[in-house]
Amino acid sequence: MEKKHTQSELEKKAREWLIERGVALTDIAELVYYLQKKYHPNLTIEDCLYNVERVISKREVQNAILTGIQLDVLTEKKVIEPPLLDILEKDEGLYGIDEILALSIVNVYGSIGFTNYGYIDKQKPGILERLNDKSTGECHTFLDDLVGAIAAAASSRLAHRAASQE
Ligand SMILES: [Mg+2]
Repeated sequence: MEKKHTQSELEKKAREWLIERGVALTDIAELVYYLQKKYHPNLTIEDCLYNVERVISKREVQNAILTGIQLDVLTEKKVIEPPLLDILEKDEGLYGIDEILALSIVNVYGSIGFTNYGYIDKQKPGILERLNDKSTGECHTFLDDLVGAIAAAASSRLAHRAASQE
């Protein structure tokens, strides 16, 4: 029997911050669906959401979420020193630390996560398009990569589970 999952303070905070920054777990589940529907014809949004929930329950994922969102919020408040402030406000392509942080999430479920992450980062479907909209005045330099990485990790988890059931 599966042990009942109780949320730590860290997990509660990570979930709260995602919602405060405009990301619902169902938005991430839709990205998983987008990535996986062609491989699993009977896939439901509920299956996707379940796998997103499992990814979010990992401590290393919660740490990445809190760190990235904190940096986005501090950037919006302009309390980060230049030249880093400028780099984060512009989401400069050559910065790359947002992707590095996100890879700590992708790593959790092995190498097929990398392919999913790279693909979704190029396509930017659903919530990722909104997070990349620079006209809002919000800063999601880290959050867009975190969300893509959670979706990629959840997709890997789903794929591994499906393969072991065949
Ligand atoms: Mg980014």
